[in-house]
Amino acid sequence: MSVAIEPPDVGVLFVVSGPSGVGKSTLLRRVMASIPDLGFSVSATTRSPRAGEVDGRDYHFLDATRFSELVASGAFLEHARVYDRAYGTLRAPVEQALAGGRSVILDIDVQGARQVRETFPDAVHVFILPPSRETLLERLRGRGTDDAATIARRMELADGQLAHARHYDYVTVNDDLKAATAVLQSIFVAALHSVECRRSALDKLVAHAT
Ligand code: ADP
Ligand code: 5GP
Repeated sequence: MSVAIEPPDVGVLFVVSGPSGVGKSTLLRRVMASIPDLGFSVSATTRSPRAGEVDGRDYHFLDATRFSELVASGAFLEHARVYDRAYGTLRAPVEQALAGGRSVILDIDVQGARQVRETFPDAVHVFILPPSRETLLERLRGRGTDDAATIARRMELADGQLAHARHYDYVTVNDDLKAATAVLQSIFVAALHSVECRRSALDKLVAHAT
């Protein structure tokens, strides 16, 4: 179901985390199709592209040298080593979008989320939980994009990600896809109606209120 909402006065920075295979990309695709004007931050990574992934659309696929140069030049808003590879959010596109009043979604791990919490205290953090570890493993296998060793490593590191869920603003279980999409959509729509986001509507009607 798509949601028609007035553009907010300020853009919201959304951080979405959860263990690999929980369904973050799937959910975000659906939410972005239903709420207008949500930008997605395309991360840089040193991991190899999966079949079907496109450079510049899914990730900026970089070699380790280029990644290190970008770290040294301060180009990343946050960066971390995740599942034995480097990942980072490029600062410029995110800052430009927010300065222009557009909202941006970061699909990043718990280490990156911690860094964002310090630099963007108003960011809205959402953690996606799997219904169970068994389901997580089934989804990683069912996706058909990773070999057995990669899947085993991701399962091994899932607990480390899950342990941080309590630090997030919102938590939801991705069991039934339709229901989880509706919950995530509701969280986004609510955040886009904070007083900060609706300041001009308030000021128009409540001009002298303190
Ligand atoms: P992530 O981005 O968190 O790594 P993906 O979005 O790639 O995860 O999803 C991993 C796999 O799980 C995909 O094959 C996807 O189609 C499937 N999936 C996602 N959400 C659900 C769900 N609610 N029920 C069943 N399968 C799901
Ligand atoms: P994948 O390799 O499955 O696409 O992503 C693996 C993990 O890296 C996911 O948990 C994802 O959220 C995280 N990730 C993707 N981009 C970034 C990023 O820019 N920074 C950080 N810290 N994590 C990221």
